[in-house]
Amino acid sequence: MTRIVFACATALLLLTIGVLQPSPVQTAAQSQRPAGTGHKGKAFRFNKVKDGVYHAVGTGALAVVGNSSIIVNDNDVIVVDDHVSPAAAWVLLDEIKSLTDKPVRTVINTHFHFDHAHGNQIFAKNVDIIGHEFTRDMLLKGNPLQMPLYKNYVAGLPGQIDDLRKRVAAEADATRKANLQMQLEAAENNRASQAELTPTPPNVTLRTQMTLYRGDREIQIRFLGRAHTAGDIVVYLPKEKAVITGDFLTAALSNMSDAFVNEWPATLDELKKLDFDTVLPGHGEAFTDKAKIDYFQAYLRDVWSQVSRFKQQGVPAEDAAKQADLTKHKEHFPTIQGPGVPLIAVTRIYELLDRGVGR
Ligand SMILES: [Zn+2]
Repeated sequence: MTRIVFACATALLLLTIGVLQPSPVQTAAQSQRPAGTGHKGKAFRFNKVKDGVYHAVGTGALAVVGNSSIIVNDNDVIVVDDHVSPAAAWVLLDEIKSLTDKPVRTVINTHFHFDHAHGNQIFAKNVDIIGHEFTRDMLLKGNPLQMPLYKNYVAGLPGQIDDLRKRVAAEADATRKANLQMQLEAAENNRASQAELTPTPPNVTLRTQMTLYRGDREIQIRFLGRAHTAGDIVVYLPKEKAVITGDFLTAALSNMSDAFVNEWPATLDELKKLDFDTVLPGHGEAFTDKAKIDYFQAYLRDVWSQVSRFKQQGVPAEDAAKQADLTKHKEHFPTIQGPGVPLIAVTRIYELLDRGVGR
């Protein structure tokens, strides 16, 4: 009799532990670990930005590409952006357990790009994935696997792996060899995870704004205008004075392949109207220097006017990409080494001008 009571009590205890400690499996759609999650050490650094607000930046042990942001509330967790692959999102969920055992119930996609939304597929059906209507359209009907930005990224992986393999073999210094080996394993795992990719759109959408309330915390999700894409949203925490910006505003220069380059500065003016002191960007470290917004606006206006002039003069895009000179902005954007801008930016600006945007 005592033994039966003991057995029942143990079973109840195990059941309770199971309920109280959500594993990534409970918030993930797949019960199976996706391919390519292997890595050594931690894949993420969780930089605490405000109470309960963390900026998750990859360590290099796993390919994650973009940053995510983690908001730990009274009873649940919100993840903003979920990285480049199902494997990266899976490992993110796993490592979030070092911060909290509360479940991830909400994911927000700042925009549709692969390095911010390609972890969506691992989340269970009862997890809200929130994004702009445009983000849903692009992931649902935009043929995301055929988009040049993504196709080029994936097409580059085998070459990157071959190159790393050669460099690992040729490296004599033990530390550098170990580092290259880590990069090689991260690239191989990334390729394995990309092979399992099923682009998954948000299941909750907004057009201009929506607000989530979690205990004392207010989480505003706002579309401020077209910029990096036609559907960028920012996640604004008014009490914490923090804003999560995706690629609308990064720590450096943003990619322009789907941008509305001429509208972007005015949309950044809308961002400036919000009361915040900290930015959690989609790439690079979190920062507090709001002058970065002015620098980026100046850069965007300059790119737009120079490239528009080349177009007017009938200069081919390839030549314009070499001739455009943004070096006067290099003090604020050290990646600018000399004249020239990425061809993808020029191609996009030419396309916008052909469509009559910005006239
Ligand atoms: Zn992007």
